[in-house]
This record gives sequence, structure tokens and C-alpha cells, in this order.
Amino acid sequence: GAVIGILGGGQLGRMLALAAAPLGYRVHVYEPGAECPAREVAARCWTAPYDDEDMLQEFARSCDVVTYEFENVPTAALDLIEAIVPIRPGRRALAVSQDRLEEKRFLEGLGLRVAPFAEVNDAADLEVAVARLGTPSILKTRRFGYDGKGQVRITGDLPPVEAPSVLEGFVEFSAEVSVIGARGLDSQVVCFDPGENVHEGGILATTTVPARLPRSLQTDAVLIAGKILNALDYVGVMGVELFVTRDGLVVNEVAPRVHNSGHWTQDACLTDQFAQHIRAVAGLPLGDGQRHSDAVMENLIGTIGEPRAVLAEPNAALHLYGKAEARPGRKMGHINRIRQRG
Ligand code: ATP
Ligand code: MG
Ligand code: MG
Repeated sequence: GAVIGILGGGQLGRMLALAAAPLGYRVHVYEPGAECPAREVAARCWTAPYDDEDMLQEFARSCDVVTYEFENVPTAALDLIEAIVPIRPGRRALAVSQDRLEEKRFLEGLGLRVAPFAEVNDAADLEVAVARLGTPSILKTRRFGYDGKGQVRITGDLPPVEAPSVLEGFVEFSAEVSVIGARGLDSQVVCFDPGENVHEGGILATTTVPARLPRSLQTDAVLIAGKILNALDYVGVMGVELFVTRDGLVVNEVAPRVHNSGHWTQDACLTDQFAQHIRAVAGLPLGDGQRHSDAVMENLIGTIGEPRAVLAEPNAALHLYGKAEARPGRKMGHINRIRQRG
């Protein structure tokens, strides 16, 4: 049988592996950490660092295609793997989304709106950038940030600079939305309906579908996702985060993978984002992205809460990640609450 390799063994890898099985695929996970959510559902887990060349090559040889569940895989590891087996989505999508500065330049180049930004490598750059972009503004490291980590909001005194960084002007948004889109090997594009996202402390708390968004902006959001997918010659599922402003949509960032704000699709669509990603990277026809239900996804952060209470709720689905240890800010699982559409 065919094997899909996944770089990274977190909850996204776990849910990809769970979605691969009914499509007839086995999953091999490559993950440096000894304990990981994907381990118990993968056919095989390779536990080794990303600079272990022998293990990377052995892993690659055991797979028919390799994908990833996080965007910070070291370039050298990708080079080794790509010499043996295709990586989907491709390298360009990774390069662009690994670096906030590259990402902003790329998006601007497509004619899309982004927050005003400036490259910041030292204290002097920051002073000039703050003078230009004003306050409040947000200083973000170019690489490795997630869940709001590596970000400082500037209102007065200037913080120390962790180079390389970018300063972003503050976007006055009325809401945040995201589009989860997929592109197949044959260039077919299928997008899920935009979801409305609420963050707490820089971490996604809930996604609600349908988003409270005028029809025209729903269309804009989907067209933006399609434009990015095509420009990157993308294969797989991608998440696009957007700010809703008085003058339309501003692109916040792009994730070259399945996305937390797409978890609602598990219980509100016939083909969810995980199955869609497996279909895409395996070169299969994409599934229908239609939503049969409205949904609210609630992240379980730092605690799994009361699983029995959730299980007793009608119209609620519980998705736990099997993490042994609960820590503040750690994503432990999520709940999808659905309401069937008239
Ligand atoms: P993720 O976990 O989504 O990858 P991240 O660490 O990459 O998060 P961002 O998406 O850049 O962080 O920012 C996190 C949140 O902070 C955004 O969803 C938004 O609420 C707020 N934010 C970020 N940049 C701006 C901005 N330029 N203007 C206003 N709010 C912002
Ligand atoms: Mg991010
Ligand atoms: Mg984000």
C-alpha cells in the first residue's frame, strides 16, 4: 500500500494520519520528540533529529510522497528528502511562509493588501520603523513564531530587538477570518467557507462558521486564497488568515498546511481539511468542500476540560490530541459544535 510521510508528529500530523486510513494510505511520521500525538495513530514513527541524514533518507525511501505539519522544517532536511521523493506542498510555499518578510513581499507582489511593514535588524532600524508606522505596532521575529510567540506590541518604550524581525503597523480590524483552501496535483482548487476566528492571548480560541462577513467579502476571501494557491503552484491544503477592515480584506499570514481554524470541517463537511490534504498530496481528486452544517470550534487550551460533559452534549464532537501533560497555552484538543442547516 501507499505510504504518506509526514514531517512533524503534533496534533495536525495525528489528524492527518487518522484521515489517511480510510483513503487507503498508511502514514509514516518523522518527529524528533519521543512523545508525540501522531505516534499512536501512525503506522510507523521515526524518532530522530532533523539533521540525522541516514534516518531522513531511510524515512524518505519508505514513503511515496512526503508532506509536513509545520513550516519550520530545516532546509537541509528537505534537500535530502526531495532527492528521493516528492515533497508536497513544494519548497516555494515553505520558503515564503517560513519568513514573515518574504511572505509580505510575496503577497504584495500578488497585489494583495498586507499590514504596513518594515524590516528590523537592530535598535536603529526599529526607531526609524516606529517613526514611520506609528504606534501601536507589532514587532515580530521573521521566523519560528506561532501562537503569538516572538511578538511584542509596541505602545511606548521600544523593546530590545531580536534580529531578524519585522515591524507591522497595527491593523484596525473588525474581525479576523480565515480561508482553508486546497489545490490538487491537477490544479483544481476547492475552498471551504471562511471561518471567523477569535484569538485570546495570541492563541486561537474559537472559529465560527459561517463568518459574519458580507457576501462580497466572502467571495474576496476565497478569491485571495485561490490566487495564492495558484501563484505558488501549490499542492495540498493551505490556511490564509485575514483581517476584515473598513476598506476590505488584509492578509495577515499564510500557513502551508492544515490549519487550526479549519478543524470545524471535521464535523461540518463530508471531506474535511485533513482528508482533503491527503487527497491533494496523494494526487487524488479533491473532495467537495460544501458545508452541511454550521459550526463553532472551541480549542481546549491548557486543559481537556470535562470530556464526559462534552460527550453528553448533543451536536458536539470531541477531538483530543492524546498529550500526556497539560501545560498553560498548550493545545490539548478541540470541540466542534454543529447545527445542521435548514
Ligand atoms: P499563528 O499561531 O496563527 O501562526 P502567529 O504567532 O504567527 O500565530 P500572528 O497571526 O502574526 O501570530 O498574530 C497573532 C494575532 O495577533 C493575530 O491573529 C491578530 O489577532 C494579532 N495581530 C497580529 N498582527 C497584527 C497586526 N499587524 N495588527 C493587528 N493585530 C495583529
Ligand atoms: Mg503564524
Ligand atoms: Mg496567525
